[in-house]
Amino acid sequence: MGRVIAVANQKGGVGKTTTAINLASSFAAAEVNTLLVDCDPQSNASSGLGLVKDPERISTYHLLMGAASAEEALKTTVLKQLWIIPAHKNLIGANIELVDGERREFRLKDALAPIRDRYQFVVLDCPPALDLLTLNALVAADAVLIPMQAEYFALEGISELLDTVERIRGSFNPDLAIEGVVLTMFDDRTNLAQQVTAELKRYFGDKLCATTIPRNIRLAEAPSHGKAALSYDIKSRGAESYMSLAKEIIGHQLSVKEMAAAAAARTSPRTVTVNESVAPEPPAANVASATIEPPAAPPSEPSAEETRAEEPIQASSTQAPVEEIRGEEPAPASVNEIQGEQPAEETGPAAVEEIRPEEQGGIPAEEMDKSA
Ligand code: ATP
Ligand code: MG
Repeated sequence: MGRVIAVANQKGGVGKTTTAINLASSFAAAEVNTLLVDCDPQSNASSGLGLVKDPERISTYHLLMGAASAEEALKTTVLKQLWIIPAHKNLIGANIELVDGERREFRLKDALAPIRDRYQFVVLDCPPALDLLTLNALVAADAVLIPMQAEYFALEGISELLDTVERIRGSFNPDLAIEGVVLTMFDDRTNLAQQVTAELKRYFGDKLCATTIPRNIRLAEAPSHGKAALSYDIKSRGAESYMSLAKEIIGHQLSVKEMAAAAAARTSPRTVTVNESVAPEPPAANVASATIEPPAAPPSEPSAEETRAEEPIQASSTQAPVEEIRGEEPAPASVNEIQGEQPAEETGPAAVEEIRPEEQGGIPAEEMDKSA
């Protein structure tokens, strides 16, 4: 099954759309079937890939409103292995129109379900808000990729995003992982960028992507030509950096599969869930209950439990490791209910299914809604 990656950060202008377009295009260039879904009423991912504005066009809005299927909304692009479901500015209305809608948080997930197996990656470009559109993307996603700029206030608002991710894990999507944090518009020649990077490394550990995206004029120019950077100037540093990011993320996938295979070899097939972290494999005894591990804290840091007692989430500063925000939160009762009944095909990547053949059962909508 394909991996669905939501590119999200409620901060505006950090490079979400540039990342979504160029990462999706780089996956496609690596000969991997990829779908880009524009979840932002600004529709920049759609225009950035050359789709002209067309009010008649079937878009993400129709998917969320149940007015059309994903199949009907699919558009081809200049890249053979890249498809897009475009957005339209009327998508902004979905936030309001869906307020009382049934399974309103699951609309995108449900709409993509019939087609997601065709793609190895589905990339969701989110708007700059933690609204119902972003919520739908995070519920539909296996993982969230967070673009950030290496600037002094970079971490402002990030605890809010991580807190949202944690709440979504506790209610609608227990397996939501952090794919990584990628630094965009990066200029490593400045001292500030280096200091902020060191700080982010401490904060995010190995969730900070090794690839950084430089500030590059070709990345800024390409959308006005309706092209991804690799179609506009394949030799540019911008295009190369996104290809390198795609490679890194494909690499995460491989390590998840290797870990799944290793866990399957050690434990009973019925009890294994896969830890998607790139951290070392958990001991066999912990595998059954493992969820996404937070990044490793520096050895000198106190344990998450120790620090949580004193520091509320809001108080987390740029010094605080991610564990304080999301690592050891005790799961609400409803999480266990949901996890227990989650059908195998809704949990984690393809490798998971292969080793969980006997889990079954669905989640009645009423139950999910109650737990929200
Ligand atoms: P929004 O929050 O409005 O959706 P965003 O997070 O999607 O914004 P982008 O639209 O990708 O951000 O980028 C904001 C601006 O910065 C755009 O003009 C884009 O072309 C430019 N930009 C993004 N990344 C780079 C880069 N690496 N080098 C140069 N310019 C960039
Ligand atoms: Mg955008």
